[in-house]
Amino acid sequence: MAKIGINLSTGSLQQEEMIVGIDLGTTNSLVAIIHPESKKPVALKEHGTSSLVPSIVHFDAFGNPIVGEEAKHYLETEPENTIFSAKRLMGKNYNDLKANADFFTYKVIDDGTDNLVKVQVGDSFYSPIELSAFILKELKQRAEHILKTPVTKAVITVPAYFNDTQRQATRDAGKLAGLDVLRIVNEPTAASLAYGFGLDQSEEKTIALYDLGGGTFDVSILTISNGIFDVLSTNGDTYLGGDDFDQLIVKHWLNQLQLPYSVVEKDKHLSQVLRLKAEEAKKILSSQPYYKTADTSIVNQLSALMDKSASFDNDLLHLPISLEQFEALITPHLQKTIACCEAALSDAGIAKQEIDTVVMVGGSTRVPLVKKLVGAYFGKPVNDTVNPDEVVALGAAIQADILAGNNKDFLLLDITPLSLGIETMGGLMEVLIPRNSKIPARVGKSYTTYKPGQSGMRISVYQGERDLVKDNRLLATFNLTGIPAMPAGLPKVEVSFLLNADGILVVTAKELRSGIQQSIEVKPQSNLTDEAVEQMLQDSIIHAQADIEARAITEAKTEGEQLITATERVIEANQSIMTEAEIALTKEAIELLASAIKNATNKNDIRSRIEHLNDITRPLAEKIMDEAVRKAMTGKKILP
Ligand code: AMP
Repeated sequence: MAKIGINLSTGSLQQEEMIVGIDLGTTNSLVAIIHPESKKPVALKEHGTSSLVPSIVHFDAFGNPIVGEEAKHYLETEPENTIFSAKRLMGKNYNDLKANADFFTYKVIDDGTDNLVKVQVGDSFYSPIELSAFILKELKQRAEHILKTPVTKAVITVPAYFNDTQRQATRDAGKLAGLDVLRIVNEPTAASLAYGFGLDQSEEKTIALYDLGGGTFDVSILTISNGIFDVLSTNGDTYLGGDDFDQLIVKHWLNQLQLPYSVVEKDKHLSQVLRLKAEEAKKILSSQPYYKTADTSIVNQLSALMDKSASFDNDLLHLPISLEQFEALITPHLQKTIACCEAALSDAGIAKQEIDTVVMVGGSTRVPLVKKLVGAYFGKPVNDTVNPDEVVALGAAIQADILAGNNKDFLLLDITPLSLGIETMGGLMEVLIPRNSKIPARVGKSYTTYKPGQSGMRISVYQGERDLVKDNRLLATFNLTGIPAMPAGLPKVEVSFLLNADGILVVTAKELRSGIQQSIEVKPQSNLTDEAVEQMLQDSIIHAQADIEARAITEAKTEGEQLITATERVIEANQSIMTEAEIALTKEAIELLASAIKNATNKNDIRSRIEHLNDITRPLAEKIMDEAVRKAMTGKKILP
């Protein structure tokens, strides 16, 4: 039971160990708690401000991060130093993002590999984990300022479709921000909790969650039974949201004024102002049938752009739009979201009549037409009584309260107190079962060999929260031997962890092509005191910054070494089509990278040289491709 104390300076009640709920969103993020007096979930906000913190990180001239509303101002003026939508990058490699590369106005590194993406700002390279950590740090500081108490524990929400890598990335971001992440909760589960669903253990329900935010749309179908949430299916469009509505309104106005879009595109200030006006119009149209602006400065600005010889309706300069016009504009988008609902239902194997409740999440569900169409589709009125911007964070706060043991109706399930994982290249810890996972748990991950003809693989099992295995507890180690000789990267070794209800961990490694396997049993909790667990957790937070830097250096070194080997092989095989100057330039870049790998004390030195070598080899790769195509073509004979 968390203790409640009184803050002597303010006289306010405070909980000693406040666990906060955090909605780390694509567009906005926020923190919520269970109010110590009312016992109701509330979103935290400073007096007279919004609870929403834009999920935007701007780096100033000295490379210092600025987060939130202030950072938003730089979106248009310094797009290359202002990172928005970092959540879209979590746990992704460049290939995952390639199709939408134009969306990002900052530099996302294309390294042509499967490695997790990095963002470059000036001379610095950031992982999405670090970027998210800046946002979480800001949220933590705000919460501490408002609550006047340290905040060290949190529940963070993620989309239901996030995979293990993305969830682990979110945990790591929390740790880096100085937060002990007690649980990662699915956003639809949190939203359901905020509506009180699932709190009554006897309740059985099937729920559809319709989440339309600023930039993304998600629909999830979930069932609740015995207080357990099960996400049956998810669907959506990761590039559809309220921002698109704003853009449609801007285009509508320009159409009316017969101004080409290119005029506005060139003028960043004007385009920013128009976008803000469009958002204002959209919000007003949620409660009124008509919008026009009284802002004379934008009217004058537009007037200056107009062709003076042509006659036009002066009223159009006031950017009018009716509800009817707005609804006509957005209807095709909304129809797309309904098609997603249909697909989600079909994947879940559920008829829409079986949905008991439809819940609205995300700021854009304030648009009345959204509620009307979704309600009509499911054949029942939608649930929209909880603030759709806050509903996910409020649910996270409820989950946090349950974890704090404050909600006596909930039985806490058995959980593992520390993460379990294995050692990967460079002595890094790879977590397979994160701490606080429910027991029993089963997880499997695939690995491959590093060297050609490698016949064995050493599996070392560790327990703990640190990034380098040397700082964690070694539980067991064994060798998988007899892997048939194959080129590096071809064998597929699946390592699975099975933690059973008695706390016994069975680790199995199996090479899938040959079928050879080896396994071992350990008891992670033996000889582990509560104090030792507490100490390991504290150490992981204290050393989070140094650990992540050490991990980043090790990863950069491994990547750099692999790139050198691959490039050397390419030079070797393609000497005939490379000029001497090209070979010399490439070798020089290899040398530079090799010396950085040997001597660098920070990841940016290695990353910048990886990027340099990539820049040099990129045109080369095209040349090699062209040559290969030419050879293939000349080899072909056309039959008479
Ligand atoms: P979220 O990502 O959930 O914070 O949603 C943000 C989106 O909701 C933005 O596109 C906002 O413009 C939009 N939004 C907020 N309030 C309203 C409103 N009253 N009417 C229409 N859209 C709104």
